[in-house]
Amino acid sequence: MDVSCNHDFTHTGTSRLDLERGELVLLVSCDRCGGVVREVGRVSYHPQPRRLYIHLVELAARELGLDPARVERLRLAALRDDEGVEGLEGEVLQLCKARLGKASPAGSWRAEVVAAVERAWASHDRRLDRAAA
Ligand SMILES: [Zn+2]
Repeated sequence: MDVSCNHDFTHTGTSRLDLERGELVLLVSCDRCGGVVREVGRVSYHPQPRRLYIHLVELAARELGLDPARVERLRLAALRDDEGVEGLEGEVLQLCKARLGKASPAGSWRAEVVAAVERAWASHDRRLDRAAA
């Protein structure tokens, strides 16, 4: 950053991740020197470890007792990050995302899906504990 710049130039909105606080920091930066002119806000943001998401979806599908073909379809939907999946499968995808810290979805959820995602999360946690031990 050029310390002699007075930032009297065009500005661009940028963002950086504050991992510690789980926030995306929204900034206005100077186009000439790249320096931060000011911070304009913060939004809750938790980057989704993709592999963990896909793994959790698969575990939850198994917890629900879905047949192998449906488990595989769900795993592929998670892999492609399909947004348009509806019904039970859509709930699994959305609730797994929510479990990983993405903004909580609004709506009512099937109790069995909520329970399956929680069991999947718990079994994943135990696996992490064992890996750490
Ligand atoms: Zn500047």
